[in-house]
Amino acid sequence: MRIETLAVHAGHGVDPSTGAVAPPIHLSTTFEREPDGSYREGLVYTRTANPNRGQLERAVAALEGGGAAAAFASGSAAIHAVIQALDPGAHVIAPKDCYHGTLRLLRELFARWGVETTFVDMCNHHEVERAVRPATRLVWVETPSNPLVRVFDIRWLAGLAHAHGARCAVDNTWATPVATRPLALGADLVMHSSTKYFGGHSDVLGGIVVARAEDDELFARVREMQTTGGSVPSPFDCWLTLRGVMTLPWRFRAQSANAAHVAEFLAAHPRVTAVHYPGLPSHPQHALAATQMEHPGAMLSIEVRGTGANAMAAAGAVQLFTRATSLGGVESLIEHRASVEGPETHAPDTLLRLSIGLEHPDDLVADLDQALGGAR
Ligand SMILES: *Cc1c(COP(=O)(O)O)cnc(C)c1O
Repeated sequence: MRIETLAVHAGHGVDPSTGAVAPPIHLSTTFEREPDGSYREGLVYTRTANPNRGQLERAVAALEGGGAAAAFASGSAAIHAVIQALDPGAHVIAPKDCYHGTLRLLRELFARWGVETTFVDMCNHHEVERAVRPATRLVWVETPSNPLVRVFDIRWLAGLAHAHGARCAVDNTWATPVATRPLALGADLVMHSSTKYFGGHSDVLGGIVVARAEDDELFARVREMQTTGGSVPSPFDCWLTLRGVMTLPWRFRAQSANAAHVAEFLAAHPRVTAVHYPGLPSHPQHALAATQMEHPGAMLSIEVRGTGANAMAAAGAVQLFTRATSLGGVESLIEHRASVEGPETHAPDTLLRLSIGLEHPDDLVADLDQALGGAR
């Protein structure tokens, strides 16, 4: 079945006990045992398994072409579980411009627990090769990257990891399975912040890790982190996220088309010195993106002519865009990245990051045009 059909149907059907078409929300934390001590549906306690979580996990696993998934209370909790599934002393390779929460987890939290990370420019394959050590256990990929929207070659990176006995995990939050299915490109694990496109309406936090099979060695440890570590999403959060998943393919495609329209307009704007968007022929990995991404996505960043003050002024003048962090919702967002990330940021001071939503693209373009005019 195609992704649109899987999005609507995978993971759940009509509720057998009531005939309800929309899935009921199972808030119960505990489940009854039969007189013989067994459990009717195998459900025992909601931290270890819950019907709504199971539905969400089956749906997202199906969209990614995987065989198992573990849902978490946030994307960060999902990343945490993957890294904690490694042994102390393990070495990780990660991109320099990964999500700044991932950067902080690896650099500040896990470094203290004996997991060391080398941060590399993942476009530079020689630099990635040079970073490999005997202790390397994981190549962490995040593509497209934040905030320069670089595209990294998943097939090559997974191949390199496997050649050295390591595993490859891909943070697929920005691409979604609508554009990129990392498992098909050789990755071992796929991770999402479902807070973004899966939820899609900026109203629910979540994370998920997908693998080819439940008995994958690394995934089995991720599952252990989920059920024993306990950083699980609530049944209502799972229900909301699954509701978002049902429209994901159509939302993502429309948002991606909107973003392409906005990117083309900005590329020709006199107040903009650079547009970072994989759908533009000027993008350094445009050709790779065309092979790895079915749609260029709805994230782009621009550099405003002048100084950081000009960029701030432009962000300050928007009327339709909302000045806020995050991405993947139906509403378009704009953000001055350097001031959000703080002193350790890689983002240029003149950079604004845009998450394009489902408004009409002409209205988005008109708003950016007047806001940039204000930065003159
Ligand atoms: C938002 C995000 C995360 C973190 O997810 P939370 O749900 O906010 O914890 C991780 N990776 C990427 C690429 C993100 O955009």
